[in-house]
Amino acid sequence: MSEPELPNVARSDGRDSAELGRLRLRPAGRAPFIVTGCAGFIGSHLTETLLARGETVVGIDCFTDYYDAAVKVRNVAPSQDDPAFRLVRADLADTELDTLFSDAAGVFHLAAQPGVRSSWGTSFDVYLRRNLLATQRVFEASVASGLRVVYASSSSVYGNANGYPTAETAEPRPVSPYGVTKLACEQLARTYTSEFGLEATGLRYFTVYGPRQRPDMAFSRVIDALARGSRFTLFGTGEQSRDFTFVADAVRATIAAMDADTVSRVYNVGGGTEATLSDTIALVERLSGRQLDLVVQGSAAGDVRRTAADTSLIRDELGWEPEVALPDGLQLQLDSVLDVADVETRLSHG
Ligand code: NAD
Repeated sequence: MSEPELPNVARSDGRDSAELGRLRLRPAGRAPFIVTGCAGFIGSHLTETLLARGETVVGIDCFTDYYDAAVKVRNVAPSQDDPAFRLVRADLADTELDTLFSDAAGVFHLAAQPGVRSSWGTSFDVYLRRNLLATQRVFEASVASGLRVVYASSSSVYGNANGYPTAETAEPRPVSPYGVTKLACEQLARTYTSEFGLEATGLRYFTVYGPRQRPDMAFSRVIDALARGSRFTLFGTGEQSRDFTFVADAVRATIAAMDADTVSRVYNVGGGTEATLSDTIALVERLSGRQLDLVVQGSAAGDVRRTAADTSLIRDELGWEPEVALPDGLQLQLDSVLDVADVETRLSHG
C-alpha cells in the first residue's frame, strides 16, 4: 500500500490566550498536552477541543493501517492549521518518548489497535504491541517526567456482564483478545501507580459515535451503505444492544479526568442511551429517508450481547454527564457523511 501524503510536522507555538477553558491552565508559552492517537476518531476530536480551549498540543500518531490512513490524514488536517499544534509521526512501541514527554503538561493516551473481531488469531501480536507495549512505554515515560495520564480503556473489559447497568466494581470478564489487552492496560496502570506513584485514570468508553467514527464501526457502515446504496452486513440478530456515547461527550469526560482532583481511577463513560442495532438502523433509515439493503450473518466471535454503563461514579466525582441524545448525535454523524457523499456523487455525474 502506498504511503498517504502526510501533513507537515513541526510547528511553533504562539496562541492567543483569550479562549482559555476549564483545564488547570498555564500562562502563555505553557507546556503542551500530549495526545496519542491524535489522527484517530476520538483523538482528533480531543485535539481540536483542547486547541479550541487555548491549549497547546503535541499529537503523536503513526497512521496505522487498521483502516485507511488517508482517513486519518483528513481527521488531523484541521488541527494542522493551528500553530498551537505539532504532529509527531511516531510509533509509541519503539520511539524514544522521554524527550517528547519532558516538557509536557499531561498525557492523553488514546492510541491503540481497536476492534474486537480482528483481535483473534495471528493479529494478536499487533494488539499486544499497539495496546500493551505502547501503553507500558507511555507509562514509563510519564513516570520519568512526572506526568498525569488519562488513557482510553473500553467497555469491552466487561464482556457479557453479570448485571446491567454495569458499575466499575463488576468483575471484568472480556470475551475478546482486544478486551483482554485493554484490561491488561488497566492492571498495568495500577502497577505503575502503586510502585511509582503514577497518576493514571482509565476511561471505559462505551461505543463512541459521531462525525469521523471509525469506518469499521456499525453506524459508519450503515451510513456508508445508505450513502452508496450498497449492502449492509448485519452480524447477529440485530437484538444486541449498546450504550452509545456521542464523541463530544466522550471528549468532555476525557478532559474532565485530566482536570480532576481525584486521580488513578477507572470510570465508565457511557452516553446513557441504550438501543439495539435494529432500533438504530431503523432510526438512521428514518433520519436519512433512505432504506437499507440488509443481509444478515451469524454473530461474530468477541461481540457482546449488551452494554449499559452505570455512570454514577463519574457523575459524582467529576460532575460529568452525557449531553447529546442518540437521535441528535446520529443526525450530526449522518449529515457529516451524507453531505460529503452527495457532493462526491454530484461531482462524479457532473
Ligand atoms: P482509532 O483507530 O480511530 O484511533 C487510534 C489511533 O491510534 C489511530 O490513528 C492509530 O494510527 C493510532 N495508533 C495506534 N497504534 C499506535 C502506535 N503504536 N503509535 C502511534 N499511534 C498509534 O480509534 P478510536 O475509535 O478513536 O479509539 C481511540 C481509543 O479509544 C482507543 O484506545 C480505543 O481502544 C478506545 N475505545 C474506543 C471506542 C470507540 O467506540 N471508538 C470504545 C472503547 C474504547
